[in-house]
Amino acid sequence: MTERTGVFPATGDTAFVETLAPFRVPRSAYIHVPFCRHRCGYCDFTLVAGRDDLIERYLSAMERELATLQTPRSVDTLFLGGGTPTHLAPAQLERFLELLRTWFDLARDAEFSVEANPRDLLESDRVNVLARLGVNRISLGVQSFDDTVLKRLERDHQADEVERVVEHLSRLIPNVALDLIFGVPGQTLESWRATLERAIALRPAHVSTYGLTFEKGTTFWTRRSKGELSPAPEDLEYEMYALAMDRLPAAGYGHYELSNFARPGRDCRHNETYWAGRPCFAFGPGAARYIAGVREIGHRSTTSWLAKVEAGESPVGYREELTAEDRAREALIVGLRRTRGVSRDEFARDHGFNLDELGRSAWDRLCQRGLIEATEGGYRLTRAGRFLADTVTVEFVGTT
Ligand code: SF4
Repeated sequence: MTERTGVFPATGDTAFVETLAPFRVPRSAYIHVPFCRHRCGYCDFTLVAGRDDLIERYLSAMERELATLQTPRSVDTLFLGGGTPTHLAPAQLERFLELLRTWFDLARDAEFSVEANPRDLLESDRVNVLARLGVNRISLGVQSFDDTVLKRLERDHQADEVERVVEHLSRLIPNVALDLIFGVPGQTLESWRATLERAIALRPAHVSTYGLTFEKGTTFWTRRSKGELSPAPEDLEYEMYALAMDRLPAAGYGHYELSNFARPGRDCRHNETYWAGRPCFAFGPGAARYIAGVREIGHRSTTSWLAKVEAGESPVGYREELTAEDRAREALIVGLRRTRGVSRDEFARDHGFNLDELGRSAWDRLCQRGLIEATEGGYRLTRAGRFLADTVTVEFVGTT
């Protein structure tokens, strides 16, 4: 059974990793930066918009939260997400990256990623800071190369600014990933095709394509409830995803995960940590750490998180302890997101369960429906299954 408690009463510190077997010690860390200029209409991420007055307090609180590590940790991947990490002013960004470099020893070939808003990188100051402090991968929130779509998404940059930024990055941080969104209200298949073509023309290392979702609590959700905004028709959304699945591999991008495509050797190693069900440190509001089968998530309210850290209390707002079977099922569900699927041997080695027994009749049922196929050593989603991944994976939640 999964034990869930609303508020974690203990310290929430991470020093106990000392007691873990070496292969259970995280080799990855995620840092959440909860600041944006404004909140885009579709966004339900953990962030505060227009509250730059909190940034200095956040940086001081991060100093305290990171100190729970007690000693610097060696990592293979370090990922700053948000929010918008590049919303920090250059001097703040420099102080923050220096702090992170104090607590995390990057392995020689480590991947150090930062999510960025194109507009923040138009001037060179932040790019210079990022490069100087070892950032070697930028995940750029492009979303679309159609200004009408960008406006509909309430983004604050314009399409042609992305080309200038990528050109500038190519000299200092050439490993650039572009994030794109399809299924935006009013977006046509031709607009999506043109976005893919302009993305490919920039020769990024990596492209992510996400279908727009309407999340409760967002202004898009409210506008849809009032009939002011209509989601893209389902068949159009399918066509858009199908186009990405055809066009990007044809341009040399391997489709390695449901939403992700990369040039050879450029898969996002940090996200592989999640898809493989491996442990990860995490710090900041809303950040989810996963160590020794325990998931702890920082308070989603930035002000609550700040108040807790400043009071010397645990900033953990949610904690769940997964049984060995919970962990294995979760690993199976996220593992199926990878297009190579899950391997019987790897699964048994990493999670201690027999893949066939864990899925029982679901494997046959899904194979018969053409959504799953057997591979030499395991199972993977078929192309049809990729369109219905949520329907497929729900089959593996709990006993089947
Ligand atoms: S820039 Fe990104 S994180 Fe910030 S509000 Fe918009 S979608 Fe959300």
